[in-house]
Amino acid sequence: MPAEFVKALPILQKIRQAGYDAYFVGGSVRDVLLKRQIHDVDIATSAYPAEIKQIFEHTIDIGIAHGTVLVLERGGEYEVTTFRTEDIYVDYRRPAHVNFVRQLSEDLLRRDFTINAFALADDGQVIDLHGGLADLKAQLLRAVGQPSERFNEDALRIMRGLRFAATLNFDLESATFAAMQTHAHLLTKISIERIFIELDQLLCASYWQKGFRDLLAIEANQYLPGFSNQKALAALLDLPSGFIFTNAVQAWGYLLYQLGDTDGKFLLKNWKVSREFSAAVSNFLTAYHKRLAGDFSSEDLYYLGLSSLTLVEELFAAQNLVTDFDRLKRLDDRLQIRHKTEISVSAGELMTRFDLPAGPQIGQLFHQIELAIVKGQLQNTADEIFKYVKKARLESNNNGNND
Ligand code: ATP
Ligand code: MG
Repeated sequence: MPAEFVKALPILQKIRQAGYDAYFVGGSVRDVLLKRQIHDVDIATSAYPAEIKQIFEHTIDIGIAHGTVLVLERGGEYEVTTFRTEDIYVDYRRPAHVNFVRQLSEDLLRRDFTINAFALADDGQVIDLHGGLADLKAQLLRAVGQPSERFNEDALRIMRGLRFAATLNFDLESATFAAMQTHAHLLTKISIERIFIELDQLLCASYWQKGFRDLLAIEANQYLPGFSNQKALAALLDLPSGFIFTNAVQAWGYLLYQLGDTDGKFLLKNWKVSREFSAAVSNFLTAYHKRLAGDFSSEDLYYLGLSSLTLVEELFAAQNLVTDFDRLKRLDDRLQIRHKTEISVSAGELMTRFDLPAGPQIGQLFHQIELAIVKGQLQNTADEIFKYVKKARLESNNNGNND
């Protein structure tokens, strides 16, 4: 048993001493069996929430309606959820009711995939009522029970399935695959934020090519905003096998590039992503197009950021296109400012010094200074900037006189 479980054992034991059943369940059991890093330890029990609250001194109600109580004990936090069944799904997503039950077997029945339907007892025994161990061994993702019913109840399971294929390198069992395909249209009923979370994890996973290929095979893309161009999406799979995206910006940026998007902001609005994420993807896309046209300049670096440029260069390298990481480093070493607030003189100081009126001209002048500094034509010191402005004003006066 890994340390996380050992640490949580006293919780199981305390519940059992009070006369109830308790097990570790869910993804952490799966991940232990796969020898993967585990994150959250979930506990399932026959005790009702009120009973759990009697057993432990410190608890927080985090989801009583769904049977979940947070137990605070020995410096740890543990989600303890009563065995439950779910009946009558509304919106293809939320069960209208959950019923608390005393039987573990009923709880395991409601879980999505066989490899997510294990329970682990405090003596280390694995309870496997749905053939999950065999599926783990065969690296198969199989729905618990009737696949069609399960995806009809909750279509998010389709995205979860694709995500597990991508993170675990599992194949979709054939009936599960067929049911995912049949019910993919129900994805339009699922909140886009939840779909984004799953697709994002899929794209960033080690075996994203597998999950993404499955996604296209079941044509789930037809029900995702802006993703109807199957052929363009399939071009993503031309990346060399085994290539892993560095981060979500690179993955989504490259995906939108394949879709022919030059900015990305409009499409990502429909995905309801954060403003920061959308801006980062947009910078990536701009950088990608600039790089296709030629070398990066110091202005590209300044306006788009080192991170966007590096992500682009990495993708170029993956495709065996010409790259120049040293150039990026040189540009970065030479860049004097990262933001206009780092300019040694403020617009106000310029106005006082040269007795300039407020207005658009001062903005233009300041922008000219910024650009000259970025291009390395002007030293970012007050002296040099004042000299530069003096000269620029003389020149513009002379030009004026010549007219
Ligand atoms: P992760 O490693 O991402 O945490 P997980 O399998 O633990 O994966 P969670 O969302 O943490 O996923 O859910 C914990 C468990 O609850 C799952 O292993 C599964 O048994 C069950 N579960 C979660 N979501 C669903 C769902 N939509 N339908 C059925 N069972 C679900
Ligand atoms: Mg989990």
